[in-house]
Amino acid sequence: MTEARRMRLQRLVPPTLKAIIAHAEELTRLDQAIGDGDHGINMKRGAEKILQELPAICDKPADEALKSMGMALVMSVGGASGPLFGSLLMEMGKSLGSRSMNKDILAECFADGIEAVKKRGRSDVDQKTMLDVLVPALDVLKENEAGSNLYTELTETVAASEARTIPMKALTGRASYLGERSIGHMDPGARTCGLAIREICNVLEAAKNE
Ligand code: ADP
Ligand code: MG
Repeated sequence: MTEARRMRLQRLVPPTLKAIIAHAEELTRLDQAIGDGDHGINMKRGAEKILQELPAICDKPADEALKSMGMALVMSVGGASGPLFGSLLMEMGKSLGSRSMNKDILAECFADGIEAVKKRGRSDVDQKTMLDVLVPALDVLKENEAGSNLYTELTETVAASEARTIPMKALTGRASYLGERSIGHMDPGARTCGLAIREICNVLEAAKNE
C-alpha cells in the first residue's frame, strides 16, 4: 500500500460519501414518488458503514479496497440498490486486480462493474435506473479526447443523464410497478450516481490545480 494511494482514497471517498449523505432527504423524496421511499436511508446507511470501515479499507491494495467497499454496501443496505452498487464496486476491484489505476484501466474496470450491475439487476439502459447515468459516464471516460477537460465533460453528462430519466417510463425495479405513473420523476438511483460522480470530479479537478 503506497502512501500516494492511501492519500487518494482518503481524499476521494469521504467527500463522495458525504455528498450522498447530505442529499439523503432528496433521494428519499425521489424514491417516495416512484418507489418505497427508502433510497436516501439506504444510501446513507451504506455510506456511513463505508466511512466507519475506511481506516481499515485505506490500508488495503486498491482492488481489495474496492471489494471491501462493495461488500460493506451489500451487507448494510437492505434495498435493491445495495447489492447493485455493491456489485459495481466489487467487480471493479476484481477487474483491477494488481494493476495500478490509470484512465484506460479505470474505463475497463468501470465497464466490467457496469456489466455486473446489468447481470445482477437483469437490466439495461433506458429502463430508468442507475444505469442511465453510469453508462453515459462510461462513454465519456472511453471517448474523451486528450486535451478536453474530462471532469467538465463528465459533470455535464451526468447532469443531462439524471434529467433524461425524468420522462422515462420505468421498465425494471420497484418503480416499474407504477407503469406510466413513473413518468415525470427523476430516478433516485440515477441521482445517487450523479452525485457521486460529480463529487469525484470536483475532488480530482481541485487536485489537478494544486
Ligand atoms: P428498492 O428499490 O429495493 O427500494 P432503493 O430504493 O435503495 O431500493 O433503490 C432504488 C434504485 O435502485 C432505483 O432508483 C434504480 O436506480 C436502482 N435499481 C432498482 N432495480 C434495479 C435494477 N434491476 N437494475 C438497475 N438498477 C436498479
Ligand atoms: Mg426504494
